[in-house]
Amino acid sequence: MQQSKQEYLPRAELRKLQLDKLNVMLREILPRNAFYREKFGDQLQLSSFSELQNLPFTTKQELLENQKAYPPYGSILTYPVCDYVRFHQTSGSSGVPLKILDSAKDWQWFLECWRMIYHATGVREDDVAFFAFSFGPFIGFWAGFEGAQSLGLRCIAGGGMSSVARLRAILDNEATYLCCTPTYAMRLLQVARENNIDVASSKVRALVVAGEPGGAVGPLRETLSRGWNARVFDHTGMTEIGSLGIECVENPGYTHLLETECIPEIIHPETLEVLPFGEEGELVLTNLGRWGCPLIRYRTGDLAVLTDETCVCKRTFCRMVGGIKGRKDDMIFIRGNNVYPSAIENIVREFAEIEEFQVEIVNVKEMTEITIKVECEVAEIMEKLSEIIQNKLHFRVQVEVVSRGSLPRFEMKAKRFVFKNRK
Ligand SMILES: [Zn+2]
Repeated sequence: MQQSKQEYLPRAELRKLQLDKLNVMLREILPRNAFYREKFGDQLQLSSFSELQNLPFTTKQELLENQKAYPPYGSILTYPVCDYVRFHQTSGSSGVPLKILDSAKDWQWFLECWRMIYHATGVREDDVAFFAFSFGPFIGFWAGFEGAQSLGLRCIAGGGMSSVARLRAILDNEATYLCCTPTYAMRLLQVARENNIDVASSKVRALVVAGEPGGAVGPLRETLSRGWNARVFDHTGMTEIGSLGIECVENPGYTHLLETECIPEIIHPETLEVLPFGEEGELVLTNLGRWGCPLIRYRTGDLAVLTDETCVCKRTFCRMVGGIKGRKDDMIFIRGNNVYPSAIENIVREFAEIEEFQVEIVNVKEMTEITIKVECEVAEIMEKLSEIIQNKLHFRVQVEVVSRGSLPRFEMKAKRFVFKNRK
C-alpha cells in the first residue's frame, strides 16, 4: 500500500507545512467560529512557527463550560449545525460527557488519519479487522472501522456480543486485526483460556489497542503479544482531538504522532512553558483537519516524552517514547513522590495468577494509603506483592485477596484506580 511522501519530510519542511495548514485553517474558521474568534480575534495569522507558543491553551473544562453556556454543542462549531453528520461524546468517565460533532469533511479527515495509522502497522488489503467494541455514542473505534473499510479490509463489528461470541467470531471469520482496549484484549485471553479456545493459533497477527495508557510497554503488552501470538500496536486518540498516533511496525515502544495532521507540543504541567524534545510533560495538540470543531493548543492531560530523532522506518514524525505515560490527574502523590498508576499496574501484572485487580487510594489527613484488591487463588501473593512494591517503589501498600469475579470487568476504558477523599 502507498505511503504519503509527507511522512518523510525533513523537520524544517514539516514545520512549514504545519504552519501553512494552521494559517489556512485559521482563515477558514475565525470569521465563523465564535469560540476561537473570542480567543484570537478574527484576523489571526502566524508568521513563524514559534508564534504558536503565544496563543492561549484550550482545556476540556473550558469546552464543557462553553457547552453549558451555549447548549447543546457550545459555540465551538464553525458551521451551521445542519452541516454536521456525526455526533459523538466522550466516555464521561470524569463527569459530564463532552459532545463533539463532525461535518462530512471532518469525518473524511478522521478516516484519512486512520488510513495512515493502519499503513504504519503494515496493513494489507486482504486483512480482516474485528472490532471488539460497543458501537455507541463514544467515538472509540467508529472511525477505525470505517477507515479500515475504506482501505479495502473486511471489517466485523463486534458490538453487543458476549466475550465468547466475540472469540468465536474472530476465529470463524479469520480476523487478522483485533481492535480493542488493552484491558479487553486481556479479558478475551482469560475467557479463551476458561473456554479452551486457542487464540494463539488464530489468524490474528496485529492487536491495535487504544483507550488506556500501557499498550506500548510493560508486562501487559508482553502478555497480550504472547497470548495472542500477535504484534501489539499502541494507538493514541481522543474523542475531542481525533486519532493521531500509532506505534510503527519497525520500532516497538515508540508511538508516531501524525504531524501532518496535528501539531504536538509538550508543556511543563505547572509552569505551562513549552519543553524541548526529550523532556517529560503534558501533551498539547492542535488538530489541523477538523475544521468544523477545531481544537488549538488543546491540553490533553496526558503525560509523555517526545523525540524528534528519525525512526528506523524513516518517517520524520516525532514519537512518544513508550506511548502515553499516564494521565496528569491520575498521578498518586505518596511519601513525597509522584507515582504513575502504571508503575503499580506493571508490578501487579507480573503475577500471572492475578485475574483482576483494583487499587484504592485514600487520603487521610496528610497521608496517602493504598490498598490493592486482587482476585487470586494464591493467598501467599499478599505478602509477595506488597514486598515487591516496597522494594521497587519505596512505599507500603495493603494487599487484600478478594473472591473471583467480585471486581468489575471492563470493555472500554478500565477504571482500576479508585481515588477517595481526593484533595
Ligand atoms: Zn517508525
